[in-house]
Amino acid sequence: MAELNLILLGPPGAGKGTQAEQLRTEFELAHIATGDILRQAVAEQTELGELAASYMDAGNLVPDEVIIGVLLEAVGRPNARDGFLLDGFPRTIPQAEALGSELEKLGRQLTAVLMIEVSDEEIVTRISGRRVNPASGRVYHVDFDPPKVDGVDDVDGTELVQREDDQPETVRNRLDVYHEQTAPLADYYDQLGLLQRFDGSAAPSEVFNRIRATIATLKLEDTI
Ligand code: AMP
Repeated sequence: MAELNLILLGPPGAGKGTQAEQLRTEFELAHIATGDILRQAVAEQTELGELAASYMDAGNLVPDEVIIGVLLEAVGRPNARDGFLLDGFPRTIPQAEALGSELEKLGRQLTAVLMIEVSDEEIVTRISGRRVNPASGRVYHVDFDPPKVDGVDDVDGTELVQREDDQPETVRNRLDVYHEQTAPLADYYDQLGLLQRFDGSAAPSEVFNRIRATIATLKLEDTI
């Protein structure tokens, strides 16, 4: 297997970011998180950021024609040449199709789509307790991973905030959007023989071990 080109699929709050961090380190992949790219654009008040902000605050998807260009540009960068890990993309069938045809043009292939499954109920609990350091992006959870001092980042003392789109109302909308627009990608990739499912309610380290074992098997099959 020349390169590992992976997609992380799953509802918001499934732990994609946590898994991405570990996978990126273990397999030296370019981690491309469209949500992070967009949040940075909003913070820097670029044209993209101004366009995306209202969709994001409401928990809706940024239009396909906006996000597809951003993603294809990131996949084409030199650091993604030896393998990439997409986190938060694709989220619609047209996005998946655009990615597929671009990779085909480049003579590249997806290795696997890793789907992390978590119930809606658990998602709401997880996300509504999430607090972030707006400067560094460091994430805490009021119950499961609290900072040492309430409301303050352990490392640099910055006051932690709740992301606008992590408010309970918005989370429910993000889940609706996920079920309507993103969940159909499971069937889409299953039909292409690429889908691998993981139980995201397990501990993050356990989820990671299972993903790593799956990737090892895929690599082995590739050499036979
Ligand atoms: P995330 O951090 O991945 O949950 O993304 C945060 C927000 O960014 C989403 O709720 C969307 O508004 C927007 N976003 C991120 N990735 C995409 C995408 N692939 N397509 C459309 N909108 C996206």
